[in-house]
Amino acid sequence: SLRAGIVGLPNVGKSTLFNAVVENGKAQAANFPFCTIEPNVGIVAVPDSRLQVLSNLSKSVRAVPASIEFVDIAGLVKGASQGEGLGNKFLSHIREVDSILQVVRCFEDNDIVHVNGKVDPKSDIDVINLELVFADLDQEEAEKSALEKIREALLDGKPARSVTLTDYERDAVKHLCLLTMKPVIYVANVAESDLSDAADNNYVKEVTKVASELQSGIVTVSAQVEAELTELPMEERQEYLNSLGVSGSGLGNLIRATYGLLGLRTYFTSGEKETKAWTILAGMTAPQAAGVIHSDFEKGFIRAETVAYDDFVAAGSLAAAREKGLLRSEGKDYIVQEGDVMLFRFNV
Ligand code: GDP
Repeated sequence: SLRAGIVGLPNVGKSTLFNAVVENGKAQAANFPFCTIEPNVGIVAVPDSRLQVLSNLSKSVRAVPASIEFVDIAGLVKGASQGEGLGNKFLSHIREVDSILQVVRCFEDNDIVHVNGKVDPKSDIDVINLELVFADLDQEEAEKSALEKIREALLDGKPARSVTLTDYERDAVKHLCLLTMKPVIYVANVAESDLSDAADNNYVKEVTKVASELQSGIVTVSAQVEAELTELPMEERQEYLNSLGVSGSGLGNLIRATYGLLGLRTYFTSGEKETKAWTILAGMTAPQAAGVIHSDFEKGFIRAETVAYDDFVAAGSLAAAREKGLLRSEGKDYIVQEGDVMLFRFNV
């Protein structure tokens, strides 16, 4: 739905307004299709008396209003574009909204400090405009330098993904959705008879070489074998693979490679009730990873107990891993590793 970002200088009434929006949203929640609200997002119905009239006439079970999301974007201060306050990170939150609601202080109150010493709406508006102007200039510079590098590569017949860019430059050109910027896996489709020693196949060698030159991945499969496997009953599949001299289906490798290429990682939760694989982005911290299960886990995160997959298996159980001292206690800065088995401690 439409997102409106609430911004403004400190002490102008942003939180007060945002909290009112959230309370209003909660009050409407009964006839509302949304239930999860992120801490800084409030969803409200667009008031429209016609909705109920139509709903009554049609004897509808439910009337669903149009909605708007209000996003509280605190942290815009003088110098934000230079990295003051929360800096660039939160400017990117502003980029994601469809419209900006700038709260401007027009009330006098000697008990509430004005960041610039006096109530001055015109100056407040100017300060924020200027920060956004600086941020846009930075963005434009990053885009320009990225485009120049990319153009050079493209004119040379090379894909955009072969260009080394800073994170900032990369973000600045994301919206272009360049075809040659997308990560690529070459799927070398070999003959049934070549599957067992595919790495020795000259064609595959050629693809491997090109893939490495083009910063791309390679996975070898026999599409025909995969198709034939689907025709076989489960219990005969392994036998068939063995007869071809391979241990497993190539489809699994392909799926894992695709997953890995997108920068995705897996961690596990494992207990008596269930064992589950969770998808996270590479580099996520323990609280962020916990947030994938439920946002309350992230908010109330205290610590995580974690054991690497191999250690868990070697120990035989979580309890045994704990006894052997393989279960580590990690804090909020811990970067979750591929295959970690996690147990989260959190406040509710
Ligand atoms: P923020 O920093 O922009 O999020 O501002 P807050 O919403 O936290 O408000 C800062 C202070 O101003 C709080 O003490 C509010 O109660 C108060 N405040 C907010 N709106 C008004 C208003 O319209 N009149 C007065 N007198 N105080 C207000």
